[in-house]
Amino acid sequence: MTAIDISTKYPPVRNYIGGQFVEGNGNTWLDVTNPADGSVLSRVPLSPSAEVDRAVQAAKKAFPAWSSLPIKERVQVFFRYKTLLEENIADLAALITEENGKIDIEARAEILKSAELTEFACSLPQITAGEVLEVSRGVECRIERFPVGIVASITPFNFPNMVPNWTIPNAIALGNCMILKPSEQVPLSAGRIAELLREAGLPEGVLNIVHGGQETVEAICDHPDIEAITFVGSTRVAKIVYRRGTANLKRVLALGGAKNHLIVMPDAEPEMTSSNVVASMSGCAGQRCMAASVMMAVGNTDHIVERMVKIMRSLTPGKHLGPVISKEAKQRIEGYITEAEKAGAKVLVDGRGYVVPGKENGYYVGPTLIDYVQPDMKIAQEEVFGPVMVVIRAKDVDEALRVQNRSRYGNAASVFTESGGVARYVMEKASAGMVGVNVGVPVPREPFSFGGWNESKFGVGDITGRGSIEFLTKSKKMTTKWNKEAGTNWMS
Ligand code: NAD
Repeated sequence: MTAIDISTKYPPVRNYIGGQFVEGNGNTWLDVTNPADGSVLSRVPLSPSAEVDRAVQAAKKAFPAWSSLPIKERVQVFFRYKTLLEENIADLAALITEENGKIDIEARAEILKSAELTEFACSLPQITAGEVLEVSRGVECRIERFPVGIVASITPFNFPNMVPNWTIPNAIALGNCMILKPSEQVPLSAGRIAELLREAGLPEGVLNIVHGGQETVEAICDHPDIEAITFVGSTRVAKIVYRRGTANLKRVLALGGAKNHLIVMPDAEPEMTSSNVVASMSGCAGQRCMAASVMMAVGNTDHIVERMVKIMRSLTPGKHLGPVISKEAKQRIEGYITEAEKAGAKVLVDGRGYVVPGKENGYYVGPTLIDYVQPDMKIAQEEVFGPVMVVIRAKDVDEALRVQNRSRYGNAASVFTESGGVARYVMEKASAGMVGVNVGVPVPREPFSFGGWNESKFGVGDITGRGSIEFLTKSKKMTTKWNKEAGTNWMS
């Protein structure tokens, strides 16, 4: 497929290299589709390895000047960028809605989170101020942080603006130059990020964008001048990128998929619990790595399940929740529901075959609640990534924790209860990187860092907040002595 002879709402997507939007050198293209109505918005190039190299050369050229600016000067770009994100929130959100499908309020929340991530980057001069100590008379040790060099970030479809901003502000404020490889399903928001950063004064070559798919990612993993990679996406690809990147001796932090369990105790506050659980499973049409997808119903929680049914039935796809990303995703999600039903589970609210009037070609799935799911069913174990919640019954909190902790994932977990003792017990025992109490989506806010456990994250450290600083920098340990009469000791 070529980019020629096509009339789409947006022109063909271009790579961003050395401060310019440029034609890719490849000749393979994919359609970028609006999932709400199936229309083609644009086309995205699948860049070959030569394009990755072109971006790396631009980043290498920019690195000496950018990395030698004091951090207090580097972060000035991000003060301006944060203001630009806020000023442009309506347009940025509209673009997210077009390419990803999420509804306006969710798209705006994504931009607000991007602004919060940027605000954290603005505080890095304070946070990374060095350590210094006189270790023996007249002898001083200090630690200073240096950028690692060129950092690449490979991102998924579900947060076209926020996930790139998990890495961009911190990595660049810390002195690195970057290559961003956005999801080929949502490439348009990345271009706007580049434009805003340029307007904020980011020098050319510091951020570069190369669009593409598997071949482009493999070229990133193999490029000798890329020092570090952050990846966010499915566990299958996270493993590929982690293995290939580390085999090439790079630092890699690869965040994967999720299967988040919410434990609902019989004493949970019914109104809050039912609305929080439904919001967690249906927000962004269930396409969040922090979405709840399994409710562990402990003891008698029928009154909460009944409320959830009512709330879900009041949600209208097309109004309260957007479409899923593609026709294939809709088919996959509906396939999971059908399979669970065949295996004996009871579908209480059925979102299959949903059609939004006027958007008959959209990829909508209505909120779905499935009760009496067994822990060994496929739908209980695999990531569905749609607005689907399964209920697994458990006799006590230990049984609920056993089921949860058998999951190969470990992104998030939550407990809904009025008992501090039970809450503390779950916080301690849940095998997950992010845990909530009476919170359906326990995303840590800055400065607390984001990252799961088990097969939800490969590598050391977290991707945002304080947890990212170690990953994005190298520390240098310096020992100095200026006077000849300074003390000598067993170390000398
Ligand atoms: P994906 O793994 O299909 O794609 C992610 C990136 O990898 C994209 O840029 C894509 O181009 C690239 N890619 C795809 N196949 C590849 C291959 N074979 N080799 C090399 N690169 C390849 O993920 P997605 O469908 O875009 O996003 C949804 C997934 O992301 C879900 O599993 C979700 O849980 C996960 N996710 C996780 C987090 C987290 O913080 N853990 C956050 C957001 C999304």
